[in-house]
Amino acid sequence: MTVSVRVPAKVNVQLAVGAARPDGFHDLANVFLAVGLYDEVTVSASGGGLRVTCSGADAGQVPLDRTNLAARAAEALASRYGLVPDVHIHIAKDIPVAGGMAGGSADGAGALVACDALWGTGASRDELLDICAELGSDVPFSLVGGAALGVGRGEQLRTLEVGGAFHWVFAMAERGLSTPAVFREFDRLSAGVRVPEPVASQELIEALAKGDASALAGAVSNDLQPAALSLFPELAETLSVGRGAGALATLVSGSGPTTAFLAENAEAAEHVAEVLLASGSCRAARVTEGPASGATVL
Ligand code: ATP
Repeated sequence: MTVSVRVPAKVNVQLAVGAARPDGFHDLANVFLAVGLYDEVTVSASGGGLRVTCSGADAGQVPLDRTNLAARAAEALASRYGLVPDVHIHIAKDIPVAGGMAGGSADGAGALVACDALWGTGASRDELLDICAELGSDVPFSLVGGAALGVGRGEQLRTLEVGGAFHWVFAMAERGLSTPAVFREFDRLSAGVRVPEPVASQELIEALAKGDASALAGAVSNDLQPAALSLFPELAETLSVGRGAGALATLVSGSGPTTAFLAENAEAAEHVAEVLLASGSCRAARVTEGPASGATVL
């Protein structure tokens, strides 16, 4: 038997970051929106232990050992149910790697849902979400999709209403950025500055609920953007090209370096993507919509 699960990427339409806590983590107010770029995780029984394979343009950058989040998800579920994780996990990767779009988290959530179906473990939604939260702070959102407010490290979720589809363009960069490195740069840039408590924007939550792209454009924010731009200055040019092409809002996606452009409608999004590609300021430009559904068995 084989089970395939489709899992979406995310963009943070708000990422408010508090000061570093004594444990090194940061409190966040994080508004996630799932978007229509997907990885597909396929699992099948294997006689000889746990094996991970990966296909897609970025496959060479994905670890195939036990550090892969999909492998860790399968092991976590198996150990909870006293099973041996004899499984072949194949990841068909379309979400950019180390791109700030939670690709690894998506694979973790996808593998969990796929193994649950393959092994007939019948774990409840809450149990799956618990395992997701242990795997990483973005993993629970990859399971639920749609739009949600994450608090704490981002792993405690409150589902948000979305009143319509938003049109996005994502520009993929030539290289990745490490999320911990971006947080370290955030700490360096904010040393000696009083960092306010992260608070979710009501204006942004209302714009999502209304499906109002102009209002959303006025409310998006990413406190990690200065740190990502400091480590990857060329991104400023990509953002400026997208703005010049008519994007309603431009921002770095999560910890970057993928850049996100909100457009008024599908045609405007196509135009922004064409201009971005022609400018040579990105490796690829993809047009899509959000919200997208969370991890879904195909
Ligand atoms: P986030 O947006 O959650 O901060 P990201 O999208 O920037 O994450 P990922 O694509 O999740 O970054 O990859 C970050 C690192 O995680 C990779 O460089 C890789 O070493 C490791 N990793 C582990 N499992 C996976 C996976 N299944 N797919 C991609 N990377 C993985």
